[in-house]
Order: sequence, then structure tokens, then C-alpha cells
Amino acid sequence: MANTRERNKIKKKRMKDFKKVRNGHVFGSLVAYLLLMILFIFLFVLVGGYFVEYLLESKFQEEYNRLSTVAEIYEEGKNSGEVLGIISKTSNEYIITDSDGRVLHQNGSNTCSAQGETIYMSNGAEKFLVYKDTESDYIYPDGEGGLDIKWLEVFGWIKQFFKDEFYLVEETAQDELNDETEDKKDQDKDDVETGFSFKLQDTQDIQGIYVTYNQSKEKIEGIKDIDSILLPLWISIDAGDGENFIGKALFSFEMKDVVLVGEIAGMVIIIAFIFSIIMLVSLIKSIRRYFRVRNLFYKDFVTNGKNWNHYLIIGDKRIHGLFSKKNNWAAVNFVFLNYRNYCLCHSIPEGEELLANINSTIMKSIKNDEICAHATTSNFALLLKYDDELQLQQRLQTMVDELTHMEKDHLFSFQVGVSLLPAESNVIETETSEEKIPRKDIFIDDIYNNACAARAELADTDESGIRFYDKSLLLDQQWTDTVQERQRSAVENEEFQVYYQPKYNPEDNTLRGAEALIRWQFSPTELVSPGRFIPLFEKNGFITEIDHYMISHVARDQRAWLDQGYKCVPVSVNVSRAHFIEKDLAEQILGMVDEAGCPHDLIEIELTESAFFDDKKAMIETIKKLKSYGFAVSMDDFGAGYSSLNSLKDMPLDVLKLDADFFRGEDAGERGDIVVAEAIKLAKSLHMRTVAEGVEDEKQVEFLKKQKCDMIQGYYYAKPMPKEDYTARMSR
Ligand code: C2E
Ligand code: MG
Ligand code: MG
Repeated sequence: MANTRERNKIKKKRMKDFKKVRNGHVFGSLVAYLLLMILFIFLFVLVGGYFVEYLLESKFQEEYNRLSTVAEIYEEGKNSGEVLGIISKTSNEYIITDSDGRVLHQNGSNTCSAQGETIYMSNGAEKFLVYKDTESDYIYPDGEGGLDIKWLEVFGWIKQFFKDEFYLVEETAQDELNDETEDKKDQDKDDVETGFSFKLQDTQDIQGIYVTYNQSKEKIEGIKDIDSILLPLWISIDAGDGENFIGKALFSFEMKDVVLVGEIAGMVIIIAFIFSIIMLVSLIKSIRRYFRVRNLFYKDFVTNGKNWNHYLIIGDKRIHGLFSKKNNWAAVNFVFLNYRNYCLCHSIPEGEELLANINSTIMKSIKNDEICAHATTSNFALLLKYDDELQLQQRLQTMVDELTHMEKDHLFSFQVGVSLLPAESNVIETETSEEKIPRKDIFIDDIYNNACAARAELADTDESGIRFYDKSLLLDQQWTDTVQERQRSAVENEEFQVYYQPKYNPEDNTLRGAEALIRWQFSPTELVSPGRFIPLFEKNGFITEIDHYMISHVARDQRAWLDQGYKCVPVSVNVSRAHFIEKDLAEQILGMVDEAGCPHDLIEIELTESAFFDDKKAMIETIKKLKSYGFAVSMDDFGAGYSSLNSLKDMPLDVLKLDADFFRGEDAGERGDIVVAEAIKLAKSLHMRTVAEGVEDEKQVEFLKKQKCDMIQGYYYAKPMPKEDYTARMSR
């Protein structure tokens, strides 16, 4: 079915639109926020990385230049013998090795590691051989041609250092207050020396990191007194003749620079933090707003529970959810029948309060992942899980029972329609048992709609009841749709055929009349009998057109037969009770018959017995008019449903048609015969002719003949037949 696919497409789009409205705002912002944070961290790390690389390279270059000057002096003067004396007086620590790596000269302690690595400057052109310091390896070649620093440890030391410094300043300030004398200051200095983990020399060492102290300042005033932190690394420089001058470079970081960089980084982080907090707050606000809107979106203001949107969206999630689709689901249309009456007798707010109570009562009896939503006025849409149908039926019955007695002074009625969506096949059946729709193409409103259709089957009564949607209901529904769809074109294409069922006089077995009965040539091979479509036309109002169609066709046929020289007998045409609300019915019939040029006495109008209960006055009027125009009028199906003996009194009818039920079923037999005999007598007393319908066997014919029944219409004589066959039975 292409239509189903298209319908599904539309529904899927609708769902998408729904979700867009509901989700769009918050999740977009959340993703934007996270992306911004990631971007910031990325940029921060990138810029920081470049800065550190630049810093290390420039420091390296500085140290290299310093050491290479010493190496050059050595290279120039190594033959003179004095040069070693000169360079060893500088504060540089170095070792000089021969081509085999043996140490020739050494100044200071040799903490150079054995294994060297080559590093490159960022331009890639210059390369250097460097060695880690064995005692302090906080700066080291990173194995990829660059230098790296053990940041965590260094930061740890810096932190420790500041802590100590702060303590130092506090202590000193306290001491200054206590004693201002120079001697005392010296004493203080000694205290400081013993109190902390570093010594105040030109270059001090705190567990592997060098700290230089600017002696030109007299007083330790916190971190300003400390010039720099030095990280050692050995750099090898070619000193000619295969010798290498390996000097200890000290990467110095000025404390004030460290502090400045720390301050800048801190500020950037603080700004980013404030910015992110502002964004976060606005995001939280949006999320809260989102939940508020979501609640409104799903809220039913009558019951304070959930509304139809909730049922559609969440229900759809349930039946399609990764885990929940494995459940058996049942869509339920739960209808409170007394709502309108209750509102009329009380008030609308009281009625709504009752709906809210119904909602909360149902909510109490459903599970967490099940749904109850207020769909329309007094309709509730439920989505329930079930294991087996019987248990579901009992559960619904319990709900209905509880709600029936929810108010002391009232006894309420509830009708429930159920449509099942079983899990095992993950499909629901459609038009034919073979065609199945996969679960993904099934929408919650489809199954709810089926539940409503099942409920509609109960609509004729005012009593509580539960009805499950089944295959026959589906087929009925589809047939109703098809009829509705095709009815008009069927009239235009003359798909409706007039069949004639002859009426015979049992006395002499002569043809005395006929009844026109409609058939629908639905397809070349399918002839549909009126029982399948007349009730639908009566419901949808199309019956009036059908009655017109039949009267016109019969009148035209009669005219044609007359013209062909046939001895025509009256043909009765059924007119539906729905037609009797039209005041000018008699005129309409007259017009049609006259248009065909058919004598009026060849047309008889059959009215169904049940129609006599409607507007009696109007009916009598119409009958009188029809009779005045020369049409005979008969009462069809006399004795079928309700007794209309009373109607016989007022209605000036010509013919009484005894219903086929008299001759069948439980009424048949001796008692039935008495009733038929009396009915015929009654008709005769009222000057009416009698027709017995549905007569099938000879015994019945014999009995009716004895009772002086005027005509018999039944299979005994003939079944309804096409025009041609009927024509053959007429005499010229
Ligand atoms: P009805 O007017 O009472 O028509 C008599 C029905 O009894 C016909 O059924 C006929 O085929 C059937 N019948 C006659 N003799 C026998 C018999 O011996 N045994 C059995 N078992 N049945 C017999 P049909 O043609 O199916 O029509 C059913 C009903 O549909 C009609 O009942 C009438 O109420 C309605 N109908 C048929 N044609 C029209 C029409 O053109 N307009 C309207 N408004 N109603 C129509
Ligand atoms: Mg009839
Ligand atoms: Mg009948």
C-alpha cells in the first residue's frame, strides 16, 4: 500500500517536528557549551605549548652561547697548558672527554649521565648533543628531538618554595620587630639557615633544583629576593681533535617571570572560569525552562495529568524503544459515558473534577512505564503492558468496577476499546492476514485508533463494556471505508443492478407482482447483496440516492416493458426510513416515475416496519399523498422486530408483507400458523392485500393458499433475478 507508506512518512515527519520543538534549544546550547570549553582548553594548551617551547629554546641558546665561549677558549689554548687553570676558575662545571669518551679534565662534580641524545631547534637546522643531569633530571630530551620539563615536580617545588618563602618573611618580620640590632640580624640569618631546607649562598640547592639568591638585597622580602630557579642540563660542544667540552647548562627561570606568567595564566583561567560559569548558569536556566515547557507541552489542564501529546510522543517511544519494544503493549480507549449528563446536572467544573479523579484513579493502577493521558472530552488514552489477553481483560474490568462506584450517589458507566500490539511477531495484522507491518512502521495513534474502533462497537448501548479489536472489526472497518469511497462512482457507473423477485398468486400460480432488490456489481465477478451495504448507506445518508436510483430504474424498466408489449405487474421498491424525514418524498417519487413515463399503479412503495415509530404524522401525510398519486403502499417485514399493530390502525396502507421470520425459526409451527392466519384475517378486515415473504417450501404455500394469502414471494417460486430473467417470466 503506497498510501500506508506515505502516511507513515507524514507521521514520522510530524514526530520529528514535535521532537524538534521539544528538544532543540537545550541540547544545542549544551553541545555549544561543551565545544567552547574544549576549544578553550585546546587553545590554552596550544598557546602554552608554543610559549614553553620558545622559552626553552631561547634559554638553551643562551646557555649554549655561554658554554661555547668557554669551549672555544679551551680549544684555542689547550696546547699552552694554562688554559685549564683559567677556565677552571670560572663558575662553570664541565668535563672534557677524548674521542673514546674518557674524561680528560673535570671541573666541579661530574653529574653528567652516560647516555646523550640529539636535540634540534624548532627551525630544524641546528642539532645538539645533550646529557641529562644524574642528580637533577627535571629537564631532559624528550626523545623526539626536543626538550621537556617535569612540570609536576617543578610546580611542586615552586609551590613548596613559595610556602617556605612566605614563612621566612613572616618569621623575619617578626624578628625585626623584636630586635633591630645588626648582631641580632646575623643571628636571625642563622635561624633561617637552620630553619629551612636551603642555604643562602650564591646558588642554592633545594633537593635538586637550584635557587639563586640576590645578595645585593639585604633582607629576604619574600619571593622578590630570589632571582631564579635553575634546571641543569649538560651540553656537549666540539672542542677539536675529537675532544668534547661537556658543560653544565643551567636553565634559569626568573622568579618574577614565573610569577608574571603564572599571573597571566591565572587571569586567563579566571576569566574563562567566570565566562564558563555565566554560560553554565544561563544553560541551567535554559534547562529548567526546557523542563517547564516540556511539562506544559505534556500537561493536561483538565485532569492535571498527561495530555494527548504525551501519549503520542512517549507512547511512540515505548512501543519503539530498544528494550520496551520487546513487551506486549495494548492501546486502550477508556471512555467515561456519563460525562455530558453529569456536566448538565452539576456543572462543567464539577465534571472536570470528576475527570481528574478518574485520571488519578487510573494512574494508581498503572505501572511506571505505562501511560494514561486525557485524550479528548471524556476519553482517556492508555498504553498498558500485558502478558495475556485474559489477564488484561480482568485488569481493565477491575478498573471499570472501581470507577463505576467512585461516587457514592452515582453509578457510572465506562466503555473500553482495546487494541493489542503483541511483541512476539513484532508486527500487527492489517487488511489481509498475510500482510504485516513491521513494528517500526506502526504508530501509537494507529493502534489507539483501532482501540477507538473497538470501543465504537459498544456505542449503541449505554452500559459498561470492554471490546477487543479483532480481525473481523478491521475487515468491517475497511469495508465501510471502501463503500464510502466508491458509492458515488458506483451510481455514476451504474454498478448497482436491479434484481426482481416475483410474487405469485398461490391460487393459480400466476405472476402478480415483484419486488425490486438492489445488488452491487462490485467487480466483474463479485455481486454484493444489499445486507452488506444498505445499512452503511442508511448510516452515511447515501440511502436516499439509492432509493432514487432504484425508483427511477424500476419506473424506466416498467416503461420499457410496456413499450415492448409485456403485461406488466406492479413492482414494489423499498424506501428507507431515513427517507421519511424528507417532507416532499411523495413529490420526489412522483417526479421520478412521471419522468420515466411509468403508470403509477405499476409502482408500489415498501416502507419498513421500524420506520413507523418515527414521525407518525409525517408518515401518514406521505402515505396519503402517495396513495392520492395512485401508488400502492406496503408495510414491509410486518411482525419482524417491534409490533406495529397500532400503526396499522392509523396508516392507510394497501399491502401487508408478512415477514419471513413467521415461516422460520422457533415461531414456525402450530403457534406460528395461528399468528399468520390471524394476521391475514386482520389485513383483510382492513382491506389490505397480503404478501408472505421468504416462503421456501410447498407446505407453507399450501397453508397460505388456505388462508387466502394474496401473494407469495419466496424461493419456492423464485429467487431475486436479473432483469432479463424476470422479463422471461412476464407474459406479453
Ligand atoms: P426485504 O425488503 O424484506 O427483502 C426481502 C429479502 O428477503 C430479500 O433479501 C430477498 O432476497 C429475501 N428473500 C426472499 N425470499 C426468500 C426466501 O424464500 N428465503 C430467504 N432466505 N430469503 C428470501 P435481499 O435482497 O438480500 O434484501 C435484503 C434487504 O435489503 C431487503 O429486505 C431490504 O430491506 C433491503 N433492500 C434490498 N434492496 C433495497 C433497495 O433497493 N432499497 C432499500 N432501501 N433497501 C433495500
Ligand atoms: Mg422489501
Ligand atoms: Mg421484507
